Amino acid sequence: MRVDVFTLFPEVFEPYLNLSILARARQKGLLEVHLHNIRDWATDRHRTVDDEPYGGGGGMVMKPEPIFAAVEDVLGRPPQVPVILLTPQGRPFTQKVAWEMAQWPHFALIAGRYEGIDERVRQHLVTDELSIGDYVLTGGELPALVVIDAVTRLLPGVLGDPEAPHKDSFSAGLLEHPHYTRPAAFRGWRVPEVLLSGHHAEIARWRRQEALRRTWERRPDLLAHARLSDEDRAFLARLEAQRRAAADARPDADAPSPTPPEEA
Ligand code: SAM
Repeated sequence: MRVDVFTLFPEVFEPYLNLSILARARQKGLLEVHLHNIRDWATDRHRTVDDEPYGGGGGMVMKPEPIFAAVEDVLGRPPQVPVILLTPQGRPFTQKVAWEMAQWPHFALIAGRYEGIDERVRQHLVTDELSIGDYVLTGGELPALVVIDAVTRLLPGVLGDPEAPHKDSFSAGLLEHPHYTRPAAFRGWRVPEVLLSGHHAEIARWRRQEALRRTWERRPDLLAHARLSDEDRAFLARLEAQRRAAADARPDADAPSPTPPEEA
């Protein structure tokens, strides 16, 4: 897979891309990242890439000319590959989107800076816009690395265990089960006995149930789209029944707390 990144800070990328799994993916030729400094396509003496916003107001806006020139120079006019703008206003980047992108042989990412990017870049150059979450960062470099990282680990041959990405949280529609390693007892906290039993079917059942429990507790919204067996549904029904029984045993749990005496 080839990724072209357009940014004002290419130096941010190398340290992270040269580590661990991403570095190995690059060495094996599974990931090729081409970094382009948008400033190299600025045409004036000061290599200007931003300007004041029309209409006034604070902050600077990234100019359209260097971005169009950079992308079209590298990828053709019009570009023949998906060009994705990282922006908090984009569609949410999820594991599902990462799986879609892992099928693409080549795509480009544009990392913004400043208060924003001239709207004509969105309208006439990019093919998609992605957000990595409902918060605002100072630049699109970390979001670009997030996308590259999440997509690369899904490429065949990148992870040692080819099944690993399919077992991860979200890929199967659930959060993943808890993990334990040696020692079997640490500060008196024991690893669940079933994991030490060597009984593969029991271990698989425990993991499935813990994945269901964890998803039910933390991200019940995911259960609506997860593929669930009859056994899964029965397990979830038992969890619900336990919750109701616990709530019934504490009849005042949901009642408003009494007014503290000093405020009465
Ligand atoms: N004023 C913009 C807004 O409210 O939508 C935010 C600009 S932000 C300070 C500068 C750049 O950081 C953006 O152009 C984008 O590339 C990147 N960025 C910030 N937060 C992001 C997020 N949650 N997802 C993706 N990119 C983000």
